[in-house]
Amino acid sequence: MNDKIEFDLSVYAPKEFQVVANGKLDTVTSIDDRNIWFFDMQKPMSSYLAAFIIGDLRVDVINSESGTPIQLYYRPEDSLKAEPTYRHTKQIFDFLESEIGVPYPWQNYKQVPVRDFLYAGMENTTATVFSEAFVVDSIGFNDRNFVNVNAHELAHHWFGNLITETSGMHHWLQEGFSTYYALLAEKEIFGEDYFYWRLYQSAEQLQMLSDEGKGESLLNPKASSLTFYEKGAWALHILKDMIGEESFKEAMVNYLNKYSYKNVTTDDFLNEVAKVYDGDLSVYKKNWLEQTAFKADAAFQYLLRSDFINEFFKISSLREKIIEDKIEALDKALELSDDFIGQEVVYQLEGEDITKTIGLYKKAFNSGNLYTRQAIALSTSTIPAEIKERYESLLTDESYITIESALGNLWANFPKERTNYLDITRNIIGFQDRNVRQLWLALAVITQNYRPEEQLAHLDELKSYTSSEYSFEVRERALGYVNYFNWWDEPTLINLVEACMHHNWRFKKTTRTYLRLLIEEGNYNEQLLKIQDVLDADQADFLKNRFIEAGK
Ligand SMILES: [Zn+2]
Repeated sequence: MNDKIEFDLSVYAPKEFQVVANGKLDTVTSIDDRNIWFFDMQKPMSSYLAAFIIGDLRVDVINSESGTPIQLYYRPEDSLKAEPTYRHTKQIFDFLESEIGVPYPWQNYKQVPVRDFLYAGMENTTATVFSEAFVVDSIGFNDRNFVNVNAHELAHHWFGNLITETSGMHHWLQEGFSTYYALLAEKEIFGEDYFYWRLYQSAEQLQMLSDEGKGESLLNPKASSLTFYEKGAWALHILKDMIGEESFKEAMVNYLNKYSYKNVTTDDFLNEVAKVYDGDLSVYKKNWLEQTAFKADAAFQYLLRSDFINEFFKISSLREKIIEDKIEALDKALELSDDFIGQEVVYQLEGEDITKTIGLYKKAFNSGNLYTRQAIALSTSTIPAEIKERYESLLTDESYITIESALGNLWANFPKERTNYLDITRNIIGFQDRNVRQLWLALAVITQNYRPEEQLAHLDELKSYTSSEYSFEVRERALGYVNYFNWWDEPTLINLVEACMHHNWRFKKTTRTYLRLLIEEGNYNEQLLKIQDVLDADQADFLKNRFIEAGK
């Protein structure tokens, strides 16, 4: 972090591939079967930010208001998803430049989605990479869009890349600041209610941690992400509130300019704040940066200036009341047609006597609000006949979360209609992990007499998703279905052992558990021993050791 140098990378790559790296592409020359890509940087940076990406990529180029070229990469087969994936990018870029008050400090900006990435995103200077899971179509955008990560990684280009922490003790100067500015960018795009909602969510999480006695100081280098990101962002919202917007911005500009391309500590930042603020900062420093507990009272005072939050609290305070005493209030709340209040109302109906809540459910369905309707799909697994028809209309909502949940619930509740439900949803893929498609395939296989001539093809397609041809998100779902229904065979067992060696530790953990239980149960041990010949040496060794471990 403390060793900043100017990186000019040259990358040799097969001719059919594109290369992306830090800085500006200078030239591409060809030697034999390779191209050499020369990249030029003009300013120094820390080495953890050096990166290059090689792949079969297409690119769309836009320009920020200030003239910085922004290159948006995607796989050729995802060309229709480029627009929804990168939606609002120019607005985010322009907003951050103006809000931070210091021009974007690098030659250009590039973003590249990559498969099997370990994190949501990584802010390599001018060459951000992010998880392919954020590559979405317009429907996926409603549930799982890239906007927050997009803004967060871009904000790092000031906080982290332009000025860098001297050590982990000052990590909040990067993560807290980027989280703070990303939420401001989201406020610009999604509005003030969304802004307060996200703040409320993080305050709740921080308060819970704090109440359990597990609160952490922002300056603890071993603190959790929740502390560095969310508590860090809160510390800035509170600071801006305390010293005023103008002084806050002035301090930020001075701080960034003074330490550009250098390293910083928390005191470097606070000293700049002290120069523009007459009051005493010591209490602030103690309460928000040093102490382990989260100042929930102050946070909730901040939230209560939002009319929307007041309205939400009024409804959420009804949770403990019996249904008869709150029907009227819930009914009125649905009229607001608000995303979050509508969800809260629906969750309060869960498990109540349907004869009393039927009117509210009908109203919630009719609200047309995507997220209110989604809450019904997620919270009502037993579907009363009175709302069957309305519930079926969820299958065509513009949300893959809603469709997946509604399909599973309808299939389970109304066996006579299974063919109908499967026909309605047979062309839907879903998110990058093919959530709807994979559920559909599993249901199509186990539904008696559903397209019997295609049954084998459906099972084969589902099993094929366990292979390393696909991202770990796709494989994780497919292996889950194969495991649940005991559809193991030699190819899927080979894919399972291969998955146990994956670099993503969560995926590896899940698949290793599957394998351990399979060996303990013993039903597939003969086949597992047979596949040893086709595994590579590491995989075969690994498998052999699992048998020894299980005492078999
Ligand atoms: Zn970050």
